[in-house]
Amino acid sequence: MTENGYAVARFRGFAVFEGLITAELRNRGTAQPTRSMPRRVTLKSQHGMDEDLEQLIYDWNVAGEKAARPPRKIEFDDETLRDGLQSPSVTDPSIDDKLRILHFMNSVGIDNADIGLPGAGPHVQKTVERLAREIVENKLSVYPSAAGRTHENDIKPIIEISNRVGIAIEADLFIGSSPIRQFAEEWNLDWIVEQSAKAVRFAVSHGIPVMYVTEDTTRARPEDIEKLYTAAIEAGAARVCVADTVGHATPWGVRSVIRFVRQLVDRLDPKVKVDWHGHQDRGLGVINSIAALEAGADRVHGSAGGIGERVGNTPMDLLMVNLKLMGWIDNDLSQLGEYVKFVADVVHIPLHVLYPVFGRDAFRTGTGVHAAAIIKAKKKGSEWLADRVYSGVPAGMFGLAQVIEVGPMCGLSNVIYWLAANGLPQEESLVKQIFALAKSTNRVLTDEELHGCVKKWEETSAEY
Ligand SMILES: [Zn+2]
Repeated sequence: MTENGYAVARFRGFAVFEGLITAELRNRGTAQPTRSMPRRVTLKSQHGMDEDLEQLIYDWNVAGEKAARPPRKIEFDDETLRDGLQSPSVTDPSIDDKLRILHFMNSVGIDNADIGLPGAGPHVQKTVERLAREIVENKLSVYPSAAGRTHENDIKPIIEISNRVGIAIEADLFIGSSPIRQFAEEWNLDWIVEQSAKAVRFAVSHGIPVMYVTEDTTRARPEDIEKLYTAAIEAGAARVCVADTVGHATPWGVRSVIRFVRQLVDRLDPKVKVDWHGHQDRGLGVINSIAALEAGADRVHGSAGGIGERVGNTPMDLLMVNLKLMGWIDNDLSQLGEYVKFVADVVHIPLHVLYPVFGRDAFRTGTGVHAAAIIKAKKKGSEWLADRVYSGVPAGMFGLAQVIEVGPMCGLSNVIYWLAANGLPQEESLVKQIFALAKSTNRVLTDEELHGCVKKWEETSAEY
């Protein structure tokens, strides 16, 4: 029952809770109704009527103005193994760990994995080849791509690896596009256009699909974007990527630039797809990606836990959680939490305790009022209710559970619940003793402290 040294009294079904439950168990449903298989979750009300539980949540998110679900299939490009590993704080994981990461991506339905930048040298080339081979040999549905500058030296190793492994690895060819970058680099637009077209033609002529990436697109002039994308698409690019390289965009900016690009691309060649690549500098990674999808992007990029340059990329996991809650995707996300935690472990960037959904505290409460509501919902015999009464994100939907703690803000119900969950007697004197200890501390009690208190109570009660 101990997790990270803290006492946790997990809801473990009803067995542990029998002594507390007086209400008749009407419904044990925890499954979230999906769009393909709607299911009414009901519970008998105090008047004996079947209460439709979903009617108990008035959803303002969809009551008025709401994001429109895009008509196209939403695709994901996972940047954990490329942009993610460019984070200044990561420890580069072993090849075995990278392979495991690839399988995790596959398990949550990631469409495309950026597996590295082979132009960086022979060491990266070896890794990229091993990862691409894993995809081919295991017939994974995640498709490989590799990054490179718009230069033959970066494209050649992608072609060579593709040929050796037997899969056409998508080349993600990038070059700066904003005026500030042009000025700093002393590039002029004609030169960038020429470099881009030449590089795209070179890759495509060797059978390599190309995503053409304009770095810093969110600060580039529309006429420059138009010239660059026109040249890249005429040279054979299958995708163009609007990159918010420095994390400058707001959702309104994203809408403007993606709508502009979507219209341009549809005019030039409607088969060409549009990607959005976001960063977290303003903390807007997730909402910007949702805005991009709504405005016409086909594919959105992100990384596990949001690792990446500076403060990172769009957190792929939180983006997927939101899209699932919005009903925009049907991906099986049961392994998403394990994926995020595994990456955090192997790159040595621990998830913050407050990290949404997958952080240690996402479903923990030591507060009396919160715990009491969850416990009362539980007593009514409904996991569905208990998992939503104090949670905007239902823990069970992501293979997680509500956690009740005992601490200075707790109520008697926290203590009773902890005792029941641990198969201990809920004697009044014991409850009072633990409650007094909890109120005398300035933090949540650990499992050891709680068991110590029980032991002391047992010893003193035995004296009589
Ligand atoms: Zn990036």
